Amino acid sequence: MSTGPALFSVVCHCRDCQRASGTGGVPVLGVPRESFSCSGPVKQSKVVGGSGYMAVRNFCSECGSLLFGTPESAPEMVTIYAGSLDDSSLFSPTDAIFVSQRKEWAVLAQSLNEHHGLPK
Ligand SMILES: [Zn+2]
Repeated sequence: MSTGPALFSVVCHCRDCQRASGTGGVPVLGVPRESFSCSGPVKQSKVVGGSGYMAVRNFCSECGSLLFGTPESAPEMVTIYAGSLDDSSLFSPTDAIFVSQRKEWAVLAQSLNEHHGLPK
């Protein structure tokens, strides 16, 4: 769980997010690591993410749902997958990132600020 406000709310279209989610992108929000805690068993997978650093994905060891990421590119934050929120209506994305890797069919109806990779 997280007690703090979101630092950012984006949809990530990097190829690794596509593979991890089985779809065109992952809606994710960032929170400060110190505002985040997790109880219950999780499993991890680690791959090189869109940033070039290891992306660590934490998922429920029971059902396999993606829960949150602990990116090595930004150790001070945790990225929470929006679908895992108790109230996912709280998620309001502003930006789409790694659109250079996005497939045409994954363009959202809602227009977002677009970034080829990570925002500068
Ligand atoms: Zn990604």
